[in-house]
Amino acid sequence: MTFKELGVIEPILKALDAEGYTHPTPIQEQSIPKLLQKRDLLGCAQTGTGKTAAFTIPILQHLYQAKGNTNRTRPIKALIITPTRELALQIGESIESYGKHTGLKSTVIFGGVKQGKQTAALSQGIDILVATPGRLLDLMNQGFISLNGIEYFVLDEADQMLDMGFIHDIKKILAKLPSKRQSLFFSATMAPAIVELSNKILGNPEKVTV
Ligand code: AMP
Repeated sequence: MTFKELGVIEPILKALDAEGYTHPTPIQEQSIPKLLQKRDLLGCAQTGTGKTAAFTIPILQHLYQAKGNTNRTRPIKALIITPTRELALQIGESIESYGKHTGLKSTVIFGGVKQGKQTAALSQGIDILVATPGRLLDLMNQGFISLNGIEYFVLDEADQMLDMGFIHDIKKILAKLPSKRQSLFFSATMAPAIVELSNKILGNPEKVTV
């Protein structure tokens, strides 16, 4: 199987080729076609399986194909929530490299640092936001971020998120998301609390386990 056979378009294929990705990993092979059909997804997968590319490639492709004139204001279209700064930065780097020929803009926000650079990046207008929950809520409460335009929502590492006590933050974020959206949910384990949370977020999801 190749990325092209999964339906991935040329500007992204070119970037994947430059990364040296010759073939999709199993989670990419199973998820990308379903996500390109706008299905919700429940993914049971650890880090190291290639799940970041599995969820970022379809988001980049949808946004690229929907991109009209470049003068539009950029309400944030895609939101990816992840528990730690390190994961957020890794996801941000992946989006930058897979999306380098798409003209789409992304930024990463996380706590523990001053917010000035992050709010400056947000004010430039971005398409894709990668965030840890606390800093996201903080900047939302200060009026720097609106989730009204979100069409794609990813909750990454859900089990780690619950272990770190982020459940209340996640519920507050969910309450601000438009109900019409595509949602993706990833967790390494599927304990009852995780399944319960996934049911709140997903509508009739495709299920992928690797
Ligand atoms: P992840 O599970 O998303 O953290 O990805 C794990 C590592 O695999 C990252 O360093 C990616 O750059 C790499 N990777 C992801 N997909 C592929 C692929 N199709 N071919 C080769 N390497 C990949």
